[in-house]
Amino acid sequence: ATQPYDDQNIFAKILRGEIPSKRVYEDDFAIAFHDINPQAPTHLLVIPKGAYVSWDDFSARAPDAEIAGFIRAVGTVARAAGLVEPGYRLLANIGRDGHQEVPHLHVHVFGGRPLGPMLA
Ligand code: 5GP
Repeated sequence: ATQPYDDQNIFAKILRGEIPSKRVYEDDFAIAFHDINPQAPTHLLVIPKGAYVSWDDFSARAPDAEIAGFIRAVGTVARAAGLVEPGYRLLANIGRDGHQEVPHLHVHVFGGRPLGPMLA
């Protein structure tokens, strides 16, 4: 079973505006902001507004409208960042072996250079 949601995690604080972030997008379902330690010229994080630990938790529990809204937001963010024509990469780390460090679902959006076959 998934761990319970910890509302003191760093992305919960970013969502509530308790700590600053370089926000690039917000709608009813999601926000997006720059990763603090970018691994590519463009490295954004898209997170749902709802309290979900991971992709696993989200896909199991979230109402369909939230799932649809979040997936649309990821596409909108990439489009607005100009990444569609050159191409980009989405990544979600889940749990221990996936090396998920922050326990609020986030999708990484990488772009701005040729990314190679995989990120380490
Ligand atoms: P994970 O390993 O959980 O998939 O990725 C967490 C990501 O969050 C990392 O890329 C890390 O650089 C980023 N991150 C961690 N703390 C902060 C923060 O306080 N602000 C921002 N903008 N990004 C953060």
